[in-house]
Amino acid sequence: MVTKAVVLLSGGLDSTLAALLLQEQGVEIHGIHFSTGFCLSEHKRTMALFEPGQRQVRSEPQRAGKDLGIPIKNVELGEEYLETVLHPKHGYGANINPCIDCRIMMLRKAKAYADEIGAQFVATGEVLGQRPMSQRRDTMRVIEKESGLEGRLVRPLCAKRLPPTEPEKQGLLDRERLLDFCGRGRRPQMELIAQKGITDYPLPAGGCCFLTDRSYAARFRDLVAHSTERKITRDDLVLLKVGRHFRLSPVLKLIVGRDEGECRFLELFSAGRVRLEAVEVLGPVALTDGPLPSGEEEALCARLVARFCDAKHEPVVAVEARGGAATEARLYKAAPLWDETTMSRLRVLEE
Ligand code: SF4
Repeated sequence: MVTKAVVLLSGGLDSTLAALLLQEQGVEIHGIHFSTGFCLSEHKRTMALFEPGQRQVRSEPQRAGKDLGIPIKNVELGEEYLETVLHPKHGYGANINPCIDCRIMMLRKAKAYADEIGAQFVATGEVLGQRPMSQRRDTMRVIEKESGLEGRLVRPLCAKRLPPTEPEKQGLLDRERLLDFCGRGRRPQMELIAQKGITDYPLPAGGCCFLTDRSYAARFRDLVAHSTERKITRDDLVLLKVGRHFRLSPVLKLIVGRDEGECRFLELFSAGRVRLEAVEVLGPVALTDGPLPSGEEEALCARLVARFCDAKHEPVVAVEARGGAATEARLYKAAPLWDETTMSRLRVLEE
Protein backbone atom coordinates (compact mmCIF):
# COMPACT_ATOMS: atom_id res chain seq x y z
CA MET A 1 0.00 0.00 0.00
CA VAL A 2 1.28 3.45 -0.87
CA THR A 3 1.98 5.71 2.09
CA LYS A 4 0.36 9.07 1.47
CA ALA A 5 0.64 12.31 3.43
CA VAL A 6 -0.92 15.74 3.22
CA VAL A 7 1.73 18.40 3.85
CA LEU A 8 0.91 22.00 4.75
CA LEU A 9 3.02 23.78 2.18
CA SER A 10 3.67 27.51 2.24
CA GLY A 11 6.55 27.23 -0.22
CA GLY A 12 8.98 28.42 2.44
CA LEU A 13 12.11 26.70 3.71
CA ASP A 14 10.66 24.58 6.50
CA SER A 15 7.60 23.17 4.79
CA THR A 16 9.54 22.43 1.60
CA LEU A 17 12.21 20.60 3.57
CA ALA A 18 9.58 18.64 5.52
CA ALA A 19 7.97 17.50 2.26
CA LEU A 20 11.37 16.53 0.83
CA LEU A 21 12.28 14.43 3.87
CA LEU A 22 9.05 12.50 3.55
CA GLN A 23 9.47 12.07 -0.19
CA GLU A 24 12.89 10.57 0.48
CA GLN A 25 11.13 7.91 2.54
CA GLY A 26 8.90 7.08 -0.41
CA VAL A 27 5.83 8.92 0.85
CA GLU A 28 3.42 10.23 -1.80
CA ILE A 29 2.94 13.89 -0.92
CA HIS A 30 -0.15 16.00 -1.49
CA GLY A 31 0.45 19.64 -0.65
CA ILE A 32 -2.22 21.87 0.82
CA HIS A 33 -1.94 25.63 1.09
CA PHE A 34 -4.24 27.98 2.96
CA SER A 35 -4.97 31.53 1.87
CA THR A 36 -5.94 33.42 5.00
CA GLY A 37 -6.18 36.84 3.35
CA PHE A 38 -3.45 38.07 5.72
CA CYS A 39 -0.41 36.54 4.05
CA LEU A 40 2.27 39.16 3.28
CA SER A 41 3.61 37.40 0.21
CA GLU A 42 0.12 37.09 -1.28
CA HIS A 43 -0.48 40.78 -0.61
CA LYS A 44 2.80 41.63 -2.37
CA ARG A 45 1.71 39.49 -5.32
CA THR A 46 -1.60 41.34 -5.50
CA MET A 47 0.00 44.77 -5.17
CA ALA A 48 2.55 43.98 -7.92
CA LEU A 49 -0.40 43.82 -10.33
CA PHE A 50 -1.31 47.41 -9.43
CA GLU A 51 2.20 48.85 -9.59
CA PRO A 52 3.57 50.50 -12.73
CA GLY A 53 4.62 47.70 -15.07
CA GLN A 54 2.09 45.33 -13.48
CA ARG A 55 4.56 42.59 -12.60
CA GLN A 56 3.41 38.99 -12.20
CA VAL A 57 4.95 37.65 -8.99
CA ARG A 58 5.09 33.90 -8.67
CA SER A 59 3.06 31.96 -6.14
CA GLU A 60 5.52 30.33 -3.72
CA PRO A 61 3.33 27.32 -2.86
CA GLN A 62 2.80 26.61 -6.56
CA ARG A 63 6.52 27.05 -7.25
CA ALA A 64 7.39 24.66 -4.41
CA GLY A 65 4.81 22.17 -5.67
CA LYS A 66 6.44 22.27 -9.09
CA ASP A 67 9.94 21.82 -7.62
CA LEU A 68 8.78 18.84 -5.59
CA GLY A 69 6.63 17.43 -8.40
CA ILE A 70 3.53 17.27 -6.21
CA PRO A 71 -0.05 18.55 -6.51
CA ILE A 72 -1.05 21.55 -4.39
CA LYS A 73 -4.58 22.16 -3.21
CA ASN A 74 -5.29 25.80 -2.40
CA VAL A 75 -7.92 26.49 0.23
CA GLU A 76 -9.34 29.97 0.78
CA LEU A 77 -10.30 30.58 4.39
CA GLY A 78 -13.28 32.90 4.41
CA GLU A 79 -15.78 34.16 7.00
CA GLU A 80 -14.96 31.33 9.37
CA TYR A 81 -11.35 32.55 9.53
CA LEU A 82 -12.42 36.13 10.03
CA GLU A 83 -14.46 34.99 13.03
CA THR A 84 -11.37 33.26 14.42
CA VAL A 85 -9.30 36.42 14.02
CA LEU A 86 -11.95 38.44 15.82
CA HIS A 87 -12.69 35.94 18.60
CA PRO A 88 -9.87 33.43 19.02
CA LYS A 89 -10.58 30.76 21.64
CA HIS A 90 -6.89 30.53 22.55
CA GLY A 91 -6.22 34.25 22.44
CA TYR A 92 -3.66 36.32 20.56
CA GLY A 93 0.11 36.20 20.34
CA ALA A 94 2.22 39.37 20.58
CA ASN A 95 -0.04 41.23 18.14
CA ILE A 96 -3.39 40.07 16.77
CA ASN A 97 -2.13 36.71 15.60
CA PRO A 98 -4.45 33.92 16.76
CA CYS A 99 -1.79 31.34 15.90
CA ILE A 100 -3.14 28.43 17.93
CA ASP A 101 -6.69 28.74 16.57
CA CYS A 102 -5.31 29.37 13.10
CA ARG A 103 -3.23 26.18 13.14
CA ILE A 104 -6.14 24.17 14.52
CA MET A 105 -8.41 25.38 11.73
CA MET A 106 -5.85 24.62 9.02
CA LEU A 107 -5.06 21.20 10.41
CA ARG A 108 -8.74 20.26 10.72
CA LYS A 109 -9.15 21.05 7.05
CA ALA A 110 -5.93 19.21 6.20
CA LYS A 111 -7.25 16.18 8.12
CA ALA A 112 -10.51 16.26 6.15
CA TYR A 113 -8.49 16.35 2.92
CA ALA A 114 -6.26 13.50 4.13
CA ASP A 115 -9.34 11.41 4.93
CA GLU A 116 -10.82 12.22 1.52
CA ILE A 117 -7.74 11.08 -0.43
CA GLY A 118 -6.82 8.19 1.87
CA ALA A 119 -3.63 9.76 3.28
CA GLN A 120 -2.44 8.11 6.49
CA PHE A 121 -1.12 11.30 8.08
CA VAL A 122 -0.66 15.06 7.90
CA ALA A 123 2.74 16.77 8.15
CA THR A 124 3.98 20.32 8.71
CA GLY A 125 7.33 22.09 8.66
CA GLU A 126 6.97 23.17 12.28
CA VAL A 127 10.06 23.26 14.48
CA LEU A 128 9.84 22.98 18.24
CA GLY A 129 10.60 26.35 19.84
CA GLN A 130 10.72 28.28 16.58
CA ARG A 131 7.62 30.40 17.23
CA PRO A 132 6.67 31.62 20.65
CA MET A 133 2.96 30.86 20.47
CA SER A 134 2.17 27.89 18.28
CA GLN A 135 5.46 25.97 18.36
CA ARG A 136 5.90 25.35 22.06
CA ARG A 137 5.67 21.76 23.28
CA ASP A 138 2.43 22.42 25.21
CA THR A 139 0.67 24.34 22.44
CA MET A 140 1.78 21.86 19.78
CA ARG A 141 0.08 19.19 21.86
CA VAL A 142 -3.14 21.28 22.13
CA ILE A 143 -3.12 21.93 18.37
CA GLU A 144 -2.67 18.24 17.62
CA LYS A 145 -5.50 17.26 19.95
CA GLU A 146 -8.02 19.91 18.90
CA SER A 147 -7.41 19.36 15.21
CA GLY A 148 -8.38 15.71 15.64
CA LEU A 149 -4.96 14.59 14.45
CA GLU A 150 -3.66 12.93 17.62
CA GLY A 151 -0.95 10.50 16.57
CA ARG A 152 -1.43 11.42 12.88
CA LEU A 153 0.44 14.73 12.83
CA VAL A 154 4.09 14.40 11.83
CA ARG A 155 6.58 17.24 12.18
CA PRO A 156 9.56 15.80 10.29
CA LEU A 157 11.98 18.62 11.21
CA CYS A 158 11.68 18.05 14.95
CA ALA A 159 10.07 14.59 15.14
CA LYS A 160 12.85 13.12 17.27
CA ARG A 161 12.09 15.63 20.01
CA LEU A 162 8.42 14.62 20.09
CA PRO A 163 6.71 11.33 21.00
CA PRO A 164 6.58 8.81 18.13
CA THR A 165 3.52 9.19 15.92
CA GLU A 166 1.33 6.37 14.54
CA PRO A 167 3.05 6.29 11.11
CA GLU A 168 6.39 5.87 12.90
CA LYS A 169 5.01 3.15 15.19
CA GLN A 170 3.44 1.34 12.24
CA GLY A 171 6.71 1.40 10.30
CA LEU A 172 5.37 3.70 7.57
CA LEU A 173 8.12 6.16 8.50
CA ASP A 174 11.64 5.52 9.73
CA ARG A 175 12.02 7.73 12.81
CA GLU A 176 15.80 7.60 12.47
CA ARG A 177 15.60 9.50 9.20
CA LEU A 178 13.52 12.28 10.72
CA LEU A 179 15.21 15.27 12.40
CA ASP A 180 15.67 16.82 15.81
CA PHE A 181 15.85 20.53 14.98
CA CYS A 182 14.69 23.06 17.55
CA GLY A 183 14.78 26.78 18.19
CA ARG A 184 14.52 29.89 16.08
CA GLY A 185 17.69 29.58 13.97
CA ARG A 186 17.24 28.48 10.38
CA ARG A 187 20.87 27.68 9.51
CA PRO A 188 20.58 23.85 9.84
CA GLN A 189 17.52 23.84 7.59
CA MET A 190 19.26 26.09 5.04
CA GLU A 191 22.36 23.90 4.96
CA LEU A 192 20.36 20.71 4.60
CA ILE A 193 18.07 21.95 1.84
CA ALA A 194 21.09 23.28 -0.08
CA GLN A 195 22.62 19.78 0.10
CA LYS A 196 19.42 18.52 -1.50
CA GLY A 197 19.84 20.95 -4.36
CA ILE A 198 17.12 23.49 -3.49
CA THR A 199 18.26 27.07 -3.22
CA ASP A 200 15.31 29.00 -4.61
CA TYR A 201 12.81 29.69 -1.83
CA PRO A 202 11.66 32.85 -0.06
CA LEU A 203 14.06 33.95 2.67
CA PRO A 204 12.72 33.05 6.08
CA ALA A 205 13.63 36.44 7.57
CA GLY A 206 10.86 38.85 8.51
CA GLY A 207 7.17 38.26 9.09
CA CYS A 208 4.89 36.27 6.85
CA CYS A 209 1.51 37.35 8.17
CA PHE A 210 -0.12 40.76 8.67
CA LEU A 211 -1.61 39.52 11.92
CA THR A 212 1.86 39.51 13.49
CA ASP A 213 2.62 43.05 12.29
CA ARG A 214 2.53 45.81 14.92
CA SER A 215 1.22 48.53 12.63
CA TYR A 216 -1.49 46.30 11.26
CA ALA A 217 -2.43 45.26 14.79
CA ALA A 218 -2.76 48.93 15.83
CA ARG A 219 -5.12 49.60 12.93
CA PHE A 220 -7.06 46.45 13.69
CA ARG A 221 -7.49 47.43 17.36
CA ASP A 222 -8.61 50.90 16.31
CA LEU A 223 -11.16 49.33 13.95
CA VAL A 224 -12.49 46.96 16.60
CA ALA A 225 -12.73 49.77 19.18
CA HIS A 226 -14.79 51.85 16.74
CA SER A 227 -17.00 49.06 15.36
CA THR A 228 -19.27 48.31 18.27
CA GLU A 229 -22.34 49.28 16.23
CA ARG A 230 -21.51 47.39 13.05
CA LYS A 231 -20.12 44.11 11.78
CA ILE A 232 -16.48 44.09 10.65
CA THR A 233 -16.18 42.88 7.07
CA ARG A 234 -13.40 41.33 5.06
CA ASP A 235 -13.08 44.57 3.07
CA ASP A 236 -12.40 46.41 6.34
CA LEU A 237 -9.52 44.07 7.05
CA VAL A 238 -8.16 44.28 3.51
CA LEU A 239 -8.14 48.08 3.68
CA LEU A 240 -6.11 47.98 6.88
CA LYS A 241 -3.22 46.66 4.79
CA VAL A 242 -2.85 49.72 2.59
CA GLY A 243 -2.31 53.43 2.95
CA ARG A 244 -1.98 55.84 5.84
CA HIS A 245 -5.02 55.78 8.10
CA PHE A 246 -6.43 58.84 9.83
CA ARG A 247 -9.31 58.70 12.28
CA LEU A 248 -11.51 61.76 11.86
CA SER A 249 -14.32 60.69 14.19
CA PRO A 250 -15.42 57.53 16.02
CA VAL A 251 -17.09 56.36 12.80
CA LEU A 252 -15.09 58.01 10.03
CA LYS A 253 -11.56 57.41 8.71
CA LEU A 254 -9.54 58.65 5.75
CA ILE A 255 -7.20 56.26 3.95
CA VAL A 256 -4.44 57.91 1.90
CA GLY A 257 -2.51 55.79 -0.62
CA ARG A 258 1.27 55.72 -0.11
CA ASP A 259 2.35 54.87 -3.65
CA GLU A 260 0.93 54.37 -7.10
CA GLY A 261 0.09 50.71 -6.52
CA GLU A 262 -1.83 51.48 -3.34
CA CYS A 263 -3.68 54.35 -5.03
CA ARG A 264 -4.78 52.09 -7.87
CA PHE A 265 -5.76 49.41 -5.39
CA LEU A 266 -7.82 51.92 -3.37
CA GLU A 267 -9.77 52.83 -6.51
CA LEU A 268 -11.35 49.36 -6.33
CA PHE A 269 -13.04 50.39 -3.10
CA SER A 270 -14.26 53.85 -4.13
CA ALA A 271 -17.95 52.88 -4.54
CA GLY A 272 -19.99 54.38 -1.71
CA ARG A 273 -17.08 56.46 -0.44
CA VAL A 274 -15.76 59.95 -1.04
CA ARG A 275 -12.65 59.90 -3.22
CA LEU A 276 -10.21 62.78 -2.97
CA GLU A 277 -7.21 63.69 -5.09
CA ALA A 278 -5.18 66.82 -5.72
CA VAL A 279 -5.73 68.36 -9.14
CA GLU A 280 -2.99 69.80 -11.37
CA VAL A 281 -0.23 68.20 -9.25
CA LEU A 282 0.76 64.62 -8.50
CA GLY A 283 -0.61 63.27 -5.28
CA PRO A 284 -2.27 60.32 -3.65
CA VAL A 285 -5.78 59.00 -4.00
CA ALA A 286 -7.62 59.00 -0.68
CA LEU A 287 -10.91 57.40 0.33
CA THR A 288 -13.16 58.01 3.25
CA ASP A 289 -14.16 54.96 5.25
CA GLY A 290 -17.42 55.06 7.20
CA PRO A 291 -20.52 57.22 6.78
CA LEU A 292 -20.33 60.11 4.34
CA PRO A 293 -18.35 63.01 5.82
CA SER A 294 -19.83 66.37 6.76
CA GLY A 295 -18.62 69.41 4.83
CA GLU A 296 -16.19 70.23 7.64
CA GLU A 297 -14.83 66.68 7.69
CA GLU A 298 -14.45 66.65 3.92
CA ALA A 299 -12.48 69.89 4.09
CA LEU A 300 -10.17 68.32 6.67
CA CYS A 301 -9.73 65.31 4.36
CA ALA A 302 -8.75 67.71 1.57
CA ARG A 303 -6.09 69.27 3.83
CA LEU A 304 -4.67 65.82 4.57
CA VAL A 305 -4.58 64.94 0.88
CA ALA A 306 -2.83 68.26 0.17
CA ARG A 307 -0.24 67.38 2.83
CA PHE A 308 0.90 64.33 0.86
CA CYS A 309 0.89 65.72 -2.70
CA ASP A 310 3.83 67.18 -4.65
CA ALA A 311 2.70 70.74 -3.87
CA LYS A 312 2.65 70.13 -0.12
CA HIS A 313 4.86 73.19 0.55
CA GLU A 314 2.52 75.54 -1.28
CA PRO A 315 0.12 77.63 0.84
CA VAL A 316 -2.93 76.07 -0.82
CA VAL A 317 -3.55 73.10 -3.09
CA ALA A 318 -6.61 72.38 -5.22
CA VAL A 319 -8.13 69.09 -4.09
CA GLU A 320 -11.16 67.51 -5.70
CA ALA A 321 -13.66 65.39 -3.80
CA ARG A 322 -16.08 63.12 -5.64
CA GLY A 323 -18.78 60.74 -4.49
CA GLY A 324 -21.01 60.95 -1.48
CA ALA A 325 -24.42 62.59 -1.32
CA ALA A 326 -23.69 65.28 -3.95
CA THR A 327 -23.40 64.13 -7.55
CA GLU A 328 -21.19 67.12 -8.41
CA ALA A 329 -17.48 67.12 -7.62
CA ARG A 330 -16.35 69.60 -4.93
CA LEU A 331 -13.16 71.60 -5.30
CA TYR A 332 -11.29 72.65 -2.17
CA LYS A 333 -8.51 75.21 -1.92
CA ALA A 334 -6.87 73.28 0.87
CA ALA A 335 -3.97 74.39 3.06
CA PRO A 336 -1.71 71.33 3.53
CA LEU A 337 -2.04 70.09 7.09
CA TRP A 338 1.39 70.43 8.70
CA ASP A 339 0.39 70.79 12.33
CA GLU A 340 2.11 67.79 13.89
CA THR A 341 -0.09 67.72 16.99
CA THR A 342 -3.21 67.41 14.83
CA MET A 343 -1.48 64.93 12.54
CA SER A 344 -0.47 62.65 15.39
CA ARG A 345 -3.93 62.90 16.95
CA LEU A 346 -5.54 61.79 13.70
CA ARG A 347 -3.07 59.18 12.61
CA VAL A 348 -3.78 55.58 13.52
CA LEU A 349 -0.46 54.24 14.71
CA GLU A 350 0.88 51.54 16.97
CA GLU A 351 0.81 52.44 20.66
S1 SF4 B 1 1.44 33.75 11.84
FE1 SF4 B 1 -0.09 32.75 13.16
S2 SF4 B 1 -2.02 33.66 12.52
FE2 SF4 B 1 -0.58 34.09 10.88
S3 SF4 B 1 -0.81 32.40 9.43
FE3 SF4 B 1 0.83 31.83 10.84
S4 SF4 B 1 -0.16 30.64 12.45
FE4 SF4 B 1 -1.78 31.76 11.35
